[in-house]
This record gives sequence, structure tokens and C-alpha cells, in this order.
Amino acid sequence: MDPAIFLDRDGCIIENKASYVRSWSDVTIYPQALQALQRIRKSQYKIFIITNQSAIGRGIISQAAAESINQRLVAEIESAGGRIDRVLTCPHTNEDDCACRKPKPGMIFEAAAQFTLDLKHSILLGDALSDIIAGQAAGIGQNVLVLTGRGHAQAKLPQAKQIPRFLVYENLSTALFDLIAL
Ligand SMILES: [Mg+2]
Repeated sequence: MDPAIFLDRDGCIIENKASYVRSWSDVTIYPQALQALQRIRKSQYKIFIITNQSAIGRGIISQAAAESINQRLVAEIESAGGRIDRVLTCPHTNEDDCACRKPKPGMIFEAAAQFTLDLKHSILLGDALSDIIAGQAAGIGQNVLVLTGRGHAQAKLPQAKQIPRFLVYENLSTALFDLIAL
């Protein structure tokens, strides 16, 4: 069984956009995130992006357009020397009450079903408490709130003190540098 790294996309690998990421021109990749992914390329971890994209469910962006943004993001990460094994997207809105939209753990379980993953020794990173809650619900051992994107604001929410303990790092790079020994 392989451990995995689960990465949120918006606010963790790329900058958040107030009115959704609708096309490639809306994508700004954090340079530190690219460097971090390059560094862990040869690690034993399977690497996943798990991303809520309710803009699909709201009809703001098509499924095909969303997939093409993700494919291009993966290509950019690869050309910078990084690796992503699979991207999992939840297209639903909150009202759909699906099993995959974070804070639900569905995307993590889907990845674990496709690959044989050791969730206890896996790491999840995201800029929202909903990421952390999903990781905790899936039994992921280390759940990290990064302070990029919405992270600073999320860390100050009362709910941050009410959920089980989680880790906080400045960004993806500082987190992975500290947590992944190579
Ligand atoms: Mg996010």
C-alpha cells in the first residue's frame, strides 16, 4: 500500500479567483507549489489533486472546460518536473448533497479504491477547513491547513478550534519540505 498526498487545487496550488477559475487565463500557479511538487516527484507517495468545482454544477463552466484546465495544470506541473497521478473533481453544488463534495470524503475514498492507498500514512493539504474535515473523515493521518488562499481567514474561524487537531503551514512548499523526508 502506498501513502498518498491529497492536494486541494484552488488556494493551495493555484490562486483563488473570486468569480471562479473559468478558463486557463484565470490560472495563476504559486511558484512555491511548483517547486514543492518537483521536489517530491520521486517520493513513494501517490499524488492526487482533489477539487470541488461547483461552478460546473452551476453551469458557469462546462465539465469539458474544467477538465481541460486541470489537464493543462497537470502538464505545467510535469514540465516543471513534478508529478500528479490523478485529478478528482466534484462537479456538484452544496444543494446536490453528493458524497464527493468536500467536507465529505468521497473523492479520497474514490482515489483509495482506484489505487491501493495507506490513508493513515497519507497527507492532505488545503486552504479550507472543509479540506481538513474531509481528510479527518477519511482517516488521513496528517491534515494540513495552508495559509495561502483562504487559509488565513479559515484559521481564524471558530470552527477551527472545534474540529480535531490539524497542522498549519505557511504554504504547500513549507509543509511538504517539513513533512516529506527524501
Ligand atoms: Mg481551496
